[in-house]
Formats: sequence, C-alpha cells, structure tokens
Amino acid sequence: MLNISKIEKMGASLRATLNGDVNIDADQILYATGRVPNTGSLGLENTSVQMKPDGSVVVDDYSKTDVDSIYAIGDCTKRMQNDTRCYRRRARRGRDSLQ
Ligand SMILES: Cc1cc2nc3c(=O)[nH]c(=O)nc-3n(C[C@H](O)[C@H](O)[C@H](O)COP(=O)(O)OP(=O)(O)OC[C@H]3O[C@@H](n4cnc5c(N)ncnc54)[C@H](O)[C@@H]3O)c2cc1C
Repeated sequence: MLNISKIEKMGASLRATLNGDVNIDADQILYATGRVPNTGSLGLENTSVQMKPDGSVVVDDYSKTDVDSIYAIGDCTKRMQNDTRCYRRRARRGRDSLQ
C-alpha cells in the first residue's frame, strides 16, 4: 500500500512523497486517512467477545459485546461515527450533527 510520507511546499505547488520514493506534484492535496481498530493486544481472544475479521469488536445497540460485563465504544467498534442512537434521534428531528 502506498502512503504519503511527507508533503512539501514547492513554490506555488505541493509535492507529496509516497513511500517507495514516488513524488506527486499538485496544486492541492487531499490526504484522507483511514482508521483501523487497534484491538490486537487487548487479549480479547481469551474472552467470548465476538470480533469481525477486520479486528473490530461486535456490539449491540447499547454498545454491549457478547460478554455482559464488557462494553466497547469508539474506533474499536468501527461503527459509522454518526451511527448512534443519539445521532439518529437528532437526525429525525431535522438536525444533522451533534453540536
Ligand atoms: C488524522 C485523523 C483525523 C481525525 N479527525 C477527526 C475530526 O476532525 N473529527 C472527528 O470527530 N474525528 C476525527 N478523527 C477520529 C477521532 O480521532 C477518533 O474517532 C477518536 O479519537 C476515537 O476515539 P477512541 O477513544 O475510540 O480511540 P482513541 O482516541 O484512539 O483512544 C484509544 C486509546 O487507547 C489506548 N490504548 C490502545 N491500546 C491500549 C492497550 N492495550 N492498553 C491500554 N490503552 C490502550 C491508546 O493509546 C489511546 O489513548 C480523526 C482521526 C484521525 C486519525
């Protein structure tokens, strides 16, 4: 996978250097990063917590895992950021953010 290792200003343009030493010159750069659940070192394999192949923790609508005493929220569940009951309630009322 190619990643951007640095972005430099080159006069009026920008230069993105990718790993593999590939340079791309451009007027503007949109650098969109992804996020992966960082669950590998939690020891969840020693529990009955169900995981998805991508490492995310499976939870129900109340953020509870398959183990009654274990809840998971945030990036480790890899749910849509706005996929919350609160967001959906507010969206139904015509508001599209949690501000
Ligand atoms: C580049 C970038 C830009 C972003 N911009 C935005 C934005 O503009 N708006 C927005 O809403 N969101 C943004 N996000 C997303 C936002 O940062 C995350 O959704 C949010 O931080 C997730 O919070 P979290 O508590 O789930 O995880 P994290 O903030 O990652 O917290 C997890 C914590 O657990 C700790 N940890 C990990 N493993 C262990 C372990 N084994 N033992 C103990 N501690 C451990 C980590 O050190 C870390 O402190 C951005 C993310 C990135 C990467």
